[in-house]
Amino acid sequence: MKENNEDDDVNRQVEPTSDGQVEPTSDSGVTRVEPDDAMRESGENERSEPNDMQIGILANLAIEYIKYGKHVSELFSPPRVCRAALKIGLKPGMSFDMTETDPDDGEPWDFTVYEKRRKAKDIIERDKPFLLVGSPPCRAFNVLFGSNITRMDPKKVQEIIREGKSHIDFCIELYKMQMREGRFFLHEHPLSAWSWKLDSVRELRECSDVYKIRGDMCRFNMITNDAQGPALAYKPTGWMSNSKHILNELNKLCTNNDSTHPPHRHADLQSGRAAQAAIYPEKLCLSILKGLRKELISNKVMYTGEIGTVCEDHDEK
Ligand SMILES: [Zn+2]
Repeated sequence: MKENNEDDDVNRQVEPTSDGQVEPTSDSGVTRVEPDDAMRESGENERSEPNDMQIGILANLAIEYIKYGKHVSELFSPPRVCRAALKIGLKPGMSFDMTETDPDDGEPWDFTVYEKRRKAKDIIERDKPFLLVGSPPCRAFNVLFGSNITRMDPKKVQEIIREGKSHIDFCIELYKMQMREGRFFLHEHPLSAWSWKLDSVRELRECSDVYKIRGDMCRFNMITNDAQGPALAYKPTGWMSNSKHILNELNKLCTNNDSTHPPHRHADLQSGRAAQAAIYPEKLCLSILKGLRKELISNKVMYTGEIGTVCEDHDEK
């Protein structure tokens, strides 16, 4: 069990090592069991409660199913990673977002509505995506909202915070489902957001195999416009996942303090331009998929050469 110490956590997990990798973790969150052992165990414990070994077997069976299921789904996001996944031969699942509509009733996927949450959960349970990417709205948790809060109607503030927390809790409910069934999640929120201090988020971070790292969006070619024209967006971002391969791909910091790289200008994201910067650049999607591909291979769901290598091509030297 990790210690619930914020300073320790930041020092140990957010800062990358010298080679830009996440600190070594234990093996993936899935317990692997050899088939012979699996058969022996199931016979010996036919009428008893499932033990750890049998739970491992079930996790393996879940992984076998994934071969015929979806590889990635998105929550609180239009098709971004899913669209890129399709390009490299992976099977995308649903992308649930306010800007996307439920084909059954033409209504947006508004997760303030219980029925839409329930339905999305059912679809994810059915699709069993190998990776679920969650990007819940950050308005209630960002610094700009904090500085404007004294000028806003207190009731409105409470409503925005309540809604923001409920979206995070919904994500976490589904991340836990992913983990229970031997699959993966990736959670994105601004590094400075106070959502990282919510009890539900801290509890998930304490799970073994769950880590948080920092990635600066300028390293993924996120470009936005300010008064001086287009420029890279700095946008330090926190990523939490039970996939060390995916976190390794996202664990990249701005190079402006590195004398071996030419300095670059950061766009001013104040004055309502932050939403524009929320669009994922392709390089970011491909970095996530590169990590996903490694996770699929390390979990023996796919094999080297079985899917396209487009996501390998953009690597920086
Ligand atoms: Zn930068």
